[in-house]
Amino acid sequence: MDVVELLPELHLLRFEVGQAYLWRDAEGLTLIGSGAAGAGGAIADAILSVGSNPADLRRVVLTHFHEDHAGGAAEIAAWGGVEVFAHHRDARVIRGESPAPPPVLSDAPEWERALFESVPKLPPAPPVAVDHAFGDHDVLPFGGGARAVAAPGHTPSSTAFHLPAFGVLFLGDAVANVEGRTMVGVFNMDRARALESFRTLSRLDSEVACFGHGEAIVGSASATLRAAADSRYGGQPEWQARG
Ligand SMILES: [Zn+2]
Ligand SMILES: [Zn+2]
Repeated sequence: MDVVELLPELHLLRFEVGQAYLWRDAEGLTLIGSGAAGAGGAIADAILSVGSNPADLRRVVLTHFHEDHAGGAAEIAAWGGVEVFAHHRDARVIRGESPAPPPVLSDAPEWERALFESVPKLPPAPPVAVDHAFGDHDVLPFGGGARAVAAPGHTPSSTAFHLPAFGVLFLGDAVANVEGRTMVGVFNMDRARALESFRTLSRLDSEVACFGHGEAIVGSASATLRAAADSRYGGQPEWQARG
């Protein structure tokens, strides 16, 4: 796994599929996203590699229920002293009481549907107890107060976290930044709402943007997000004729 320092308080943890982020406060550590099932050991190693201690991890904060971002939560929660934060409408899926609903690709461009067929499928996220079920606009206790910003579309309860004190924005899969292209995320349950959410998120003041997939933007992130969100296809490659 690659570990990249973005700010003294913030590291990006890059897995084979997807990314999580480690935030360091004086009171302890917060993980934003948990990687896929089985990621716990690599995350512990990453925490040690940046000079912190896995025993100082206080919480795992989930942007949405997908297996590449919530799959490691059960293993990490079992370390002890780690609380799991998830949106209250996602809690049943995270706890394993309801199946994770699939994306809706009927109005996705051809290239996205082809990509969906080609990506390796990950194991489902093992169930985990949700210690704190947050709602839209709630403020979570890290990074000087992390505001939960509703970003529906990728999933109905996808949530971004905005740290105004640091100008940091965690976007989950609402927005991606792959191959030099800042764009609305793929494999959405509601593409139109995802495009709307991208525009909303781009209006938040951010210097640093952290994506579930792709390079983080460090410096003037808002400007890049706005330009992409306001472009015709949310920064995605031009819409192709549907087959
Ligand atoms: Zn993802
Ligand atoms: Zn996702």
